[in-house]
Amino acid sequence: MKLYPINAGNFKLDGGAMFGVVPKSLWQRTNPADANNMIDIAARCLLIEDGNRLILIDNGMGDKQSSKFFGHYHPWGNDTLDNSLKQQGFNKDDITDVFMTHLHFDHCGGSIKWNTDKTAYETAFKNAHFWSNKNHWQWATQPNKREKASFLKENILPIKESGQLKFTALPETDLLKNSALGFDIFFANGHTEKQMIPMINYKGKTICFMADLLPTVGHLPIPYVMGYDTRPLLTLDEKEKFLNLAADNNYYLFLEHDAHNEIITVKHTEKGVRLASILSTNDIFN
Ligand SMILES: [Zn+2]
Repeated sequence: MKLYPINAGNFKLDGGAMFGVVPKSLWQRTNPADANNMIDIAARCLLIEDGNRLILIDNGMGDKQSSKFFGHYHPWGNDTLDNSLKQQGFNKDDITDVFMTHLHFDHCGGSIKWNTDKTAYETAFKNAHFWSNKNHWQWATQPNKREKASFLKENILPIKESGQLKFTALPETDLLKNSALGFDIFFANGHTEKQMIPMINYKGKTICFMADLLPTVGHLPIPYVMGYDTRPLLTLDEKEKFLNLAADNNYYLFLEHDAHNEIITVKHTEKGVRLASILSTNDIFN
């Protein structure tokens, strides 16, 4: 098995929204805000090459929205999904599986593109299965008013219409061992219904793709929960459980949204679970 980080393009989000009730005087130490109160955010996806399979976990915002739409998110840097795949020697047609942790636009927008004459949408990965789960799909296609702006129809419905949609099994507890993708999946319900956190066994290490369960290093303290979460009290419990497991088992936490830190490990301290080390994907994947 080989792993590759794939940066689908950096952007910015409002620091207040990213830290919910936490005062700016605290969060700005780890996540400094610009003059508009926006903080740096990455869309760091993960590519898994495993035998004949090439699995892409999440795919950023995509490029089909209007410039007005992207203007709200202040894109920065030169990375795009296509460039990053190319740098590793791949293109979209090579991908056999697109795994979507959840269907918020900044995680799955790259799944869909305009067709050549810009008259209709089509899947951007023509040879891939697209993986979600039944409960999250239902949640996203009949969205509540709170999350409606994050579940864009054009990112979601064309996947089903293409016939490329697949659902993972759902576990009775929060952990699905040995999913159809070959890795374990932790299911978390605080951010959104049935968000999926892949846990990949790689050369004896466990690499966890943290998605929106732990967006940046700054979100390590248990009460530092995003304003976007639909069930924040549940996020507290899920984060505490997961971070304790991570400290007990020395998991490597791959941070999708942290623009400046790729992978971290954590440790138990008297104050709770805290940062142990910051690592680069080069250290761990090569
Ligand atoms: Zn999300």
